[in-house]
Amino acid sequence: NPFLEVENLTYTYPDGRPALRGIGLKILPGERVALVGPNGAGKSTLLLALAGILRAEGRILVDGTLLTPASLPRLRARIGLVFQLPDDQLFSPTVYEDVAFAPLYQDLPPGEVHARVEEALAGVGMQAFAGRMPHHLSMGEKKRVAIATVLAMRPAMLLLDEPSAGLDPRGRRELISLLNGLPQTLLIATHDLDLAGRLCPRMVILDGGQIVADGESRALLADA
Ligand code: ADP
Ligand code: ADP
Repeated sequence: NPFLEVENLTYTYPDGRPALRGIGLKILPGERVALVGPNGAGKSTLLLALAGILRAEGRILVDGTLLTPASLPRLRARIGLVFQLPDDQLFSPTVYEDVAFAPLYQDLPPGEVHARVEEALAGVGMQAFAGRMPHHLSMGEKKRVAIATVLAMRPAMLLLDEPSAGLDPRGRRELISLLNGLPQTLLIATHDLDLAGRLCPRMVILDGGQIVADGESRALLADA
């Protein structure tokens, strides 16, 4: 069964043209899918809708459960969104508190929160940075902490918006290797076709709010 199922998803910004037009998509557990397409194609909007941040028309099923205002609090921990700009995700005085934020919000007991933080920071290789100020980290470090804030919810699926944007070659290599080691189902919106090809066997191409291709990355990249 698909982990994520999207049917006829449609969204128009209050002041705009339709940003999503009848999107249909199924993603199996453990799949890694690259979401590509030109600027304005609707990639970010789709991720926001899947994370339950934007309310689109149509149906989103997570692990067979329909995403609704009632199910959202529970499903939010199953699918985590990593924003393009880490500064949108990091706002606490220390790395530790940023990563602890979601588990604390879930009302987990303190011991469990601490275990989640340690696990998430270890998962991105940032244990040594727990007491540091997020604001003062490098872009690559911020991106890793932003991923840890989401991993702390122990999601089954990660949505990543332009994860390699703004990274130097070394930061980018480290990020690819980090993502490559994650067991989660991944949907990665990116302009970085090299990253897409390395991480994602499957590619979905969006244009004008519609899916114009969905298939093997290798074949689609060869056509590009
Ligand atoms: P992508 O991530 O592929 O670049 P977006 O999802 O950001 O595409 O944008 C899809 C469409 O929605 C574009 O036409 C864009 O101009 C429009 N759009 C995006 N964000 C907003 C917003 N906050 N208000 C109005 N229109 C928006
Ligand atoms: P260790 O794993 O070595 O016991 P911790 O992960 O507990 O280390 O702590 C590492 C750093 O994280 C500490 O130096 C501290 O600054 C910060 N830290 C630990 N616990 C908290 C907390 N509850 N709130 C804020 N910062 C914390």
